Amino acid sequence: MKRVWMLVGMVTVVVFVPILKAQNAKSVRGADERFKADILVVVAHPDDEGAVTPYLARAVYDLHKRVAVVFGTHGGSGGNSYGQERAGALADIREMEAREACARLGISNVWFLDGKDTASQDVLNSLANWGHGENLEKMVELVRLTRPDVIITSLPGVFIGENHGDHQATGVIATEAFDLAGKEAVFPSQLAGASPKREVYLENLNPWQPKKLYYFADAQDDQQFAGKGPAYSITEVSPSQKKPYWKLALHAAMTHLTQYPEDIERISKLNDSEIEKQMNDPQQGWWSNPETLVFGKSYYESKPTDDVFANLEGRPVACGTSLPTAQPSGTAAELGGPWGFYDQFRKEHCLSELPVAKVPEIAVKNGSILSVPIVIHHAGKEAELTVSAAVPSGWKVVSGTGKIKLPAEERTNLRVEMETPTLAEAELKAGKTETIRVQVEGAGSSAHAVELKVSLRGSALPQ
Ligand SMILES: [Zn+2]
Repeated sequence: MKRVWMLVGMVTVVVFVPILKAQNAKSVRGADERFKADILVVVAHPDDEGAVTPYLARAVYDLHKRVAVVFGTHGGSGGNSYGQERAGALADIREMEAREACARLGISNVWFLDGKDTASQDVLNSLANWGHGENLEKMVELVRLTRPDVIITSLPGVFIGENHGDHQATGVIATEAFDLAGKEAVFPSQLAGASPKREVYLENLNPWQPKKLYYFADAQDDQQFAGKGPAYSITEVSPSQKKPYWKLALHAAMTHLTQYPEDIERISKLNDSEIEKQMNDPQQGWWSNPETLVFGKSYYESKPTDDVFANLEGRPVACGTSLPTAQPSGTAAELGGPWGFYDQFRKEHCLSELPVAKVPEIAVKNGSILSVPIVIHHAGKEAELTVSAAVPSGWKVVSGTGKIKLPAEERTNLRVEMETPTLAEAELKAGKTETIRVQVEGAGSSAHAVELKVSLRGSALPQ
């Protein structure tokens, strides 16, 4: 015993100075590891997480990845088919349903933005109603807090399908946060060292650059996304859970009683093989197999179909030029509204791989008014134009056409409105799409036309 003490004493003498120094260094607390995520999922409403839960089950249980989820809204303006509660009370319930769904997949880090449910297909309506700036700031903060390698969110684009503006808004805000969270000059109060004493204004986060961005679509035709990103079997059996991934996802979805109580109650009464038969039926199943994630972009070089967790380091991809978009010198017309926005958005965020409808498209309720937003660029000069619209038989143009005089400005927004016909049941079932064409002709300049492919439905979200 004595010898050991002596030995320790000798060593102490030899290394006395460095040890003293180390003892004097005060350690600084680092980022909270409990909130580090490998995947950050950003969806609009409680239950929208269900679009990716088969993959999340794989990621959590078998790839041992940490997943966090951000919901854009509390879903208070949605329906409640289970109880009497509505509005704020329903929002409280749906928050709990969402937390329970995530908990069933081992996900406990769940946050909510302050978005307000917006019943519209137009992402610009949702962004306006949500308060785009405040929610973006919050989203950037959550990216810096959770430090994800991968963000998975809704596809920002207009497609025939559910095409909910709120879904698209999360895709927009998450994409913007992907590009902003790593920049030191963006929302600097989040990055500044904590304020002295009791002034707790500054957040002391670090900048964080996520590495990969993926989307999921709610378009009706999901075949158009085949090959646009990695695809994962939902029928594969989880090695750790001994159940197919769809079944783990179904277990999580069963918490959303306010949204589809009949389905949940019906499924609860089925035996395993009956449930399996139903989920494997392409008409009745809740998920497509395989589940395809649409590649948005990667910070490092990566192919769209590479695995989600491939290429998390390497050579950064150059993105963006600082050249401003050239303004047309004469008169030019293009589709405005969400379509015009997304054209710019894809360029701004380097989403060159993102699928886009060949001809801009939308589904609207039959017998409703279709509004076609047009942007006219006219180089700061007054201009006189003739706007005309070619529509299928049975359709009626109600406003926005004829001779129009534009003020001396760079660009002017116009809107051509048309009444769509009320279709018989059989016609609606046939699901035919029509293409309408709006033409703009100015004195001394060639005609410009914009096209929009329209599907008339028995019901659809307002445009
Ligand atoms: Zn939704």
